[in-house]
Amino acid sequence: MKNDFSQKMFSLPNLPFEKDAMPDFCSAKTFDFHHGAHHKTYVEKLNAAIAGTDFEKMDETHFDEIIRASHAAKNLAIFNNAAQHFNHSFFWKCLSPAAGGDPTGKIAEKMAENFETFENFKKEFENAAATLFGSGWVFLAQNADGALEIEKYPNADTPIIRGKTPILALDVWEHAYYLDFQNRRPAFASAFWGVVNWDFANKNLQK
Ligand code: MN
Repeated sequence: MKNDFSQKMFSLPNLPFEKDAMPDFCSAKTFDFHHGAHHKTYVEKLNAAIAGTDFEKMDETHFDEIIRASHAAKNLAIFNNAAQHFNHSFFWKCLSPAAGGDPTGKIAEKMAENFETFENFKKEFENAAATLFGSGWVFLAQNADGALEIEKYPNADTPIIRGKTPILALDVWEHAYYLDFQNRRPAFASAFWGVVNWDFANKNLQK
């Protein structure tokens, strides 16, 4: 098929790591389905939903615009798939087989300001993951004042529509952990600390 670079559209990003690199958090089989089926389907449905609309020529450089506009217009076919595409693309970057451990750099200072200790932060984040009813996301986000906040959202919800900057995300839909942890979502959330990418979190900080 001939490439038509005048026709922009959304596309599935490659995972920034090998699928078998984080077996204590997610197996290769989970990444196969989560990235290669679930995330891929959000991208395909998004491209189908924007065909013939004002969003048709958009791509990932328009994430904020398409997410905010489709949410304001209550166009759920576009909003749900655009927000899930953003959330998943963001989530993959929060993971690294070479990462984990205590926070480093600016995020460590911000965490001390807002949560006193890393232990407190972990406890609050894991509690959000455990208590979110049904499918959704836990985000560490930065508000307009620069403070870090732990947010738990249902379904495709995202900090983008709340005027907050995403710093870290954990997908707590069952498809993210069921093959590896079955119903033990808290064990999945606690395994996140072994692979969490603090360098990415630091890059996301606005102030
Ligand atoms: Mn997911």
